[in-house]
Amino acid sequence: MAIMLPELPYAKNALEPVISARTLEFHHGKHHNAYVTNANKLIKGTDLENMDMETIIAKTAGDADKAGIFNNTAQAFNHSFYWKCMKPGGGGAPTGLIAEKINKTFGSYEKFAEAFKTAGVTQFGSGWAWLVQDGEAIKIMKTLNADTPLAHGYTPLLTADVWEHAYYLDYQNMRPSYLAAFLDKLVNWDFVNANLK
Ligand code: MN
Repeated sequence: MAIMLPELPYAKNALEPVISARTLEFHHGKHHNAYVTNANKLIKGTDLENMDMETIIAKTAGDADKAGIFNNTAQAFNHSFYWKCMKPGGGGAPTGLIAEKINKTFGSYEKFAEAFKTAGVTQFGSGWAWLVQDGEAIKIMKTLNADTPLAHGYTPLLTADVWEHAYYLDYQNMRPSYLAAFLDKLVNWDFVNANLK
């Protein structure tokens, strides 16, 4: 199978109390798993069957006839990426090259954090908040539902899932509290730095 459900890069309870084991059990074990299962079902027997997720996303983006393949494959990619954006004891001000780029682009980490939270809070309905690289520049964007920066030619650096299933068990409707805790306590800046091109 071209598309796999990766193991979480930490124990299910490792992100507590910010994200509970119960949330990760459902989010990874049910939601992410369903996207992987559906994507594999949809590509089976087609010319996309043995391609990697990035290629499938590029080949199906914007094609209304392939919306099911795009949505499930993009969600499989987005979730695999999201798990790696977090680590126990992460968050707070960045280090390394991304710290320089954030200061240069946004003025300070605090201003970046406000803009990232605003992107996540103002994504109406389900979607994702992102920090992406566009050539030498970095910028914040938000995407609706399964949409992903890969489909727009950008390199993803960091993402927060703002679908309700990402936070509802722990924060109910308080998406801003989830995003604040994600930034303060979870971001894996080593992973963000490694994504810079
Ligand atoms: Mn999700």
